[in-house]
Amino acid sequence: PVHIIWFRHDLRVTDNKALFYACQDKQAQVHAIFTVTPEQWQAHDMALSRQALIHDALLELSQSLAKLNIPLTILLSDTYSNAASSVAEYCQQHHATALFFNYEYELNERHRDNRVIELLENKVTIYAYHDNVFIAPGNVVTQQGEMYKVFTPFKNAFLRLFFSQDNTSLSRPDIRTHQHPVESLSAPLFPIKKENKLDYLTTEKDALLRLKQFCYETVSHYAKWRDIPSIEGTSQLSPYLAVGLISVRQCFNRLYHTEPHFVENSTSGEFVWFNELIWREFYQHLIVANPYLCQYRAFQSWTENIKWDNNEDNFTAWTQGLTGYPIIDAAMRQLNQTGWMHNRLRMLTASFLVKDLLIDWRWGERYFMTKLLDGEFSANNGGWQWAASTGTDAVPYFRIFNPTTQGKKFDPEGEFIRQWLPELINVPARYIHTPHEWTMKTNSYIDYPLPIVDHAKARVNAIEAYEKAKNQ
Ligand code: FAD
Repeated sequence: PVHIIWFRHDLRVTDNKALFYACQDKQAQVHAIFTVTPEQWQAHDMALSRQALIHDALLELSQSLAKLNIPLTILLSDTYSNAASSVAEYCQQHHATALFFNYEYELNERHRDNRVIELLENKVTIYAYHDNVFIAPGNVVTQQGEMYKVFTPFKNAFLRLFFSQDNTSLSRPDIRTHQHPVESLSAPLFPIKKENKLDYLTTEKDALLRLKQFCYETVSHYAKWRDIPSIEGTSQLSPYLAVGLISVRQCFNRLYHTEPHFVENSTSGEFVWFNELIWREFYQHLIVANPYLCQYRAFQSWTENIKWDNNEDNFTAWTQGLTGYPIIDAAMRQLNQTGWMHNRLRMLTASFLVKDLLIDWRWGERYFMTKLLDGEFSANNGGWQWAASTGTDAVPYFRIFNPTTQGKKFDPEGEFIRQWLPELINVPARYIHTPHEWTMKTNSYIDYPLPIVDHAKARVNAIEAYEKAKNQ
């Protein structure tokens, strides 16, 4: 038998269901493939830094696979539909008997997989697995068999199912003693552009080490620390979960190993962190139940009537971190320079774009995607629709974050702001959120814009725009 394992966003050899099962038959020749689709990636706004992370993680993967005697082949196509043909051709050329992969849940990805299944029908057996989530989408449902529309009941149903199933991680496959030794691949695997000198991990070993350290040193404080952007109070594992250097089961198992009783205390740092992994799960299940979410549509259809202002200058100021609101600008510069942004700040910057600037949330969703190392359609879309009050379980439209008071609350001394806005380095803590008050008082100068909107007025405008849309 010849088994093909098609890697996607699961770039690891430990606890990878498709790889594990492809290797179960000791006699099988196992070959790995990965499809590179630059045109499709661009159409999906995939950040260049994320492409570079995938590239570097693939190089490491090819070394780990070579140690198992499994060759990795990169198949270069432009779009998903061509990728489907090239996977099918590869399987036929190599006389594959079976193709193994882990599901991806976005709409275009599902169309691509269905096409492959069609092309290989009656020729190659397909084995597909739910590996990127704890529970297969479609299984955490109401008594009527429907996907939940609100997080908390989803979570409660999820927890019941989760603790009744086996969640152990799978081991790395053994060396394929029936296969010849192979060379690992060398760079470049495909053209990449590194925008910034970004810092990221590329091996599953390092990602697991970060998880371990987080669980030993930080997670017990997570409930308190997770909202403070100036400290490393969160795991920063999102890019590695997004490309699959690490799995959600590995996260759970490490957490469980650190504190086996964490589920008994819903306010413990451990439980609060696990809750975030359940949010991730919720948004993945949501796009499967509501595929139209992958087609630029709002979950709450009435919000499609909102008349956006869509002022391009304001949008540019937001992208560049030049809105005159220090917490928003510091956050946007963190995103632009590192490819990552703290969760509290994603909520604030998203709310600011949509509610204060009255710009269509889809503009922001897209911009985030072009910058995020962890850009994951379901979480990004879910987060944006939450902030824009267009989504499931979203923040009510009349509850609007005040960027100044939020800044004071979560960065009281302005430590985070000063890290990203060097032009405000000398502004005292008391004025760090309203620096122009300080310049007026002291007759000093800062090279920093005045607020581009008046929050109080913007708030009234936004509520009006939402109300109009709702009553239409
Ligand atoms: P931790 O706090 O350590 O959480 C652990 C893991 O749980 C994260 O790595 C992530 O995989 C998951 N997670 C945490 N919070 C959420 C959440 N609210 N929704 C879904 N999953 C979550 N997350 C992404 O992974 N990719 C995105 O593209 C993305 N876009 C977002 C856009 C907006 C507007 C908002 C409000 C949130 C977005 N998030 C996204 C969710 C969240 O901000 C990030 O997952 C988190 O900041 C990553 O940092 P961390 O790894 O330190 O998280």
